[in-house]
Amino acid sequence: TSTLVFDNVTARYAPGAAPAVQDVSLEIPRVGHTAIVGPSGAGKTTIFSLLLRFLNPDAGRLVLDGTPLQDWSLEDLRRRVVYVEQDTPLVPGTLRENLLYTHDSAGEEAIWEALRAVRLEGRVRELPDGLDTSLSTAVISGGERQRIALARALVGDPEILLLDEATAQLDGLTEAAVHEVIDRLARSGAVLTIAHRLSTVIDADQIIVLEAGRVRARGNHQTLLAED
Ligand code: ADP
Ligand code: ADP
Repeated sequence: TSTLVFDNVTARYAPGAAPAVQDVSLEIPRVGHTAIVGPSGAGKTTIFSLLLRFLNPDAGRLVLDGTPLQDWSLEDLRRRVVYVEQDTPLVPGTLRENLLYTHDSAGEEAIWEALRAVRLEGRVRELPDGLDTSLSTAVISGGERQRIALARALVGDPEILLLDEATAQLDGLTEAAVHEVIDRLARSGAVLTIAHRLSTVIDADQIIVLEAGRVRARGNHQTLLAED
């Protein structure tokens, strides 16, 4: 079956350093929303770094669709697994150039569909130059930037979306749009989010609680609350 597996993974950023994650075993179904929850320094971002192959495990292994992650070409991996950071940088240039940044062959319809999904369609249509508006001249809020970054990821129709869902600084509309996108994508693909608190991932199908690099608990919102 199609899954992403972490099999007893230990990883450190430098030889001799303390492990950033230790003996982590996870199974992430290829459909649904998995949330990784834990305080700062727990190892959440490291899970993403391993998945993107920014970092290699010291022990254990990662397997995607039955194939060890290291055997995937980076090109294939980057197409399947897309990461939207808390502050994904936008590139200088137009909105269109930003949306097509990683998928330059995407069509007009894919662009507008992505903009609709993040609730930016109306806003973009109102801009004097529409998609050709230069981002250096347009007044764009932080929340809108985040939604543009998310739209850019959606244009490529990723199978696995990694989302740093630190919604702390997000405005209400952005937070609602992000949750809608998560819910919709999680019906056909895998969405993996990072959050600090359990209260922000009530709807996740699976929640993994990390603490000091180790899996401390797993379940869903209800079962985890019952344990605490
Ligand atoms: P995480 O989401 O990885 O658990 P946070 O986003 O809460 O961690 O960041 C932990 C601390 O580090 C916060 O005080 C935050 O302001 C700071 N921080 C996070 N990312 C950056 C960054 N890119 N540059 C500078 N400080 C950062
Ligand atoms: P979280 O995302 O939960 O805040 P991280 O995965 O960023 O946690 O960090 C896990 C551990 O790895 C922490 O002890 C952190 O200091 C360390 N770490 C994270 N990134 C680096 C890095 N680039 N270099 C060295 N240590 C790092």
